[in-house]
Amino acid sequence: MATEWLQEIPKESIVHKAYAFALDAHKNETRMNGDPYVSHCLEVGKTCFEWHLGEIAVTAALLHDVVENTGFTIHDIKKNFGDEIAFLVEGLTKLEHFQYPSDPDVENLRKFIISFSEDLRVLIIKLADRLHNMRTLEHLPKERQERFAWETMEIYAPLAYRLGMQRLSGELDDLAFPYVHPEEYKWLLKETKGDYAERQEYAQKVVPIITRELEKNGIYPIHVDSRAKRYFSLYRKLLRYDMDFSKIYDLVALRIITKTVTECYAALGVVHQLWQPFPNRFKDYIARPKANGYRSLHTTVFCIDSRILEVQIRTEEMHEENELGIAAHWAYEQVKNSKKRKAKWKGVEDKKELAWVSQLRNWQENFTGEPEFLEDLKTNFFKDRVFVLTPENDIIDLTVGATPIDFAYRIHSDVGDQCVGAKVNGNIVPLEYELHSGDVVEIVTQRGKKPSESWLSIVKTVGAKKHIRNALNAGRRILRKKAGPAAIEFKAVTVDRPGYLKDVTSTFANSKTNIISLSSQVDSRMKFATVTARTGILPQQKIEKLLVKLKKITGTREVSHRFVQ
Ligand code: MN
Repeated sequence: MATEWLQEIPKESIVHKAYAFALDAHKNETRMNGDPYVSHCLEVGKTCFEWHLGEIAVTAALLHDVVENTGFTIHDIKKNFGDEIAFLVEGLTKLEHFQYPSDPDVENLRKFIISFSEDLRVLIIKLADRLHNMRTLEHLPKERQERFAWETMEIYAPLAYRLGMQRLSGELDDLAFPYVHPEEYKWLLKETKGDYAERQEYAQKVVPIITRELEKNGIYPIHVDSRAKRYFSLYRKLLRYDMDFSKIYDLVALRIITKTVTECYAALGVVHQLWQPFPNRFKDYIARPKANGYRSLHTTVFCIDSRILEVQIRTEEMHEENELGIAAHWAYEQVKNSKKRKAKWKGVEDKKELAWVSQLRNWQENFTGEPEFLEDLKTNFFKDRVFVLTPENDIIDLTVGATPIDFAYRIHSDVGDQCVGAKVNGNIVPLEYELHSGDVVEIVTQRGKKPSESWLSIVKTVGAKKHIRNALNAGRRILRKKAGPAAIEFKAVTVDRPGYLKDVTSTFANSKTNIISLSSQVDSRMKFATVTARTGILPQQKIEKLLVKLKKITGTREVSHRFVQ
């Protein structure tokens, strides 16, 4: 059993009391694989400890299944460990009862979404719990395996991603993948077996070359290494690329970890000087981080042997934040003050809590049960998201302030274009209605309907704006075509002689026709010139008269006209 990590915690910490309590409470229980049940509690506690969650959360992690599985009640927890830990354990017990998607009760789903927002620690401990359950999934009966894997892929991995916990999200997806898509998983494993090893080897060959080049330019990276793309994210990407491996350039990517942001860009310059960058593949997630906070530079280059390689460049701080998300962020705040590089355990004697714990408690105190809690969340880690539901209970996350139109465009651009009305929780609402987390949204469409220009000032999401503009522009193009040409171009070919251009302009002037633009070109043998004059649209009669007059000018060999846009 994983007890070593407990040694790192001060003896007087409540964590040890919780371990003793859990050991006793679960003493008659075993897991499916025959291990004592408390081994699961220890693993969950250990993960939370490694995520720097703090004493209260680690204690709650050790106790998370006590109420659910044993004769002890939440009052016993409260009596022995206090209100805060009991609050977390209660939240975890509630989450345990939540089922998705077999549970058709929408209200339950809303409660779920709100419950995790009340105190993110509940959700994060739940993620640690789910991680261990997924790692030991092989021991469960088949039916439970499938349910667990589905929930993990549909709820927990996306939530981890939203919290910026990239590594966890990727691992959860990978653990669920073989159970959710067994055939595809087997296929992918077979297809990539040789590829992975070979590309990894190639990337390793590149590491010393780029390291040397960086050092030559005065950049001493903390790390240069390679990482293989995770199976499930590879699978998802392949779905978008017709299952064609040759289109996936980041199967193995090179990763450069630098000390400063300036060095990130400097390193990028060195990489681009060394190897030709692939057009349109450069992404600056430092200047424009992803919605979940991910920061890095990505580029794709033609590397040695003309092979295509993706390179990711980031600082160590970005790297930790990308991997650990929310936990790393708050741990950093703490480290800044403690001078130590790694966030160390904060024992009971240390009154200073991890900054994020108090931050979360603030949210909880101020916003529990209040719809406004989202207002606060938007400035924090859920940043600007609201979670709404389709009538089929699919969760759609949107920017705060998003309207039914944003929702419609997220479902499909056609649904957006043809949207004429919306129902929220069964009631008809105006299209500019602001959606809230937990809302069930239904869109009313009408075939052939086009979006209105006024929508541009209503919608909040970039995607919706883009679709609306596209639809409006398509409409304008059609209108212009119907409106016909915008100008006439007269062309006269002439013997090149002085004064010809003046005669042409006087001809137009005498016919009271304005020239919009005029140009002349002399051909290479200097014998002939072509004069082109543009006018507005003229009646056919006038055009013919002009053509006759132009022809009469001395030296004219040929005249013609055409309508232009
Ligand atoms: Mn558990």
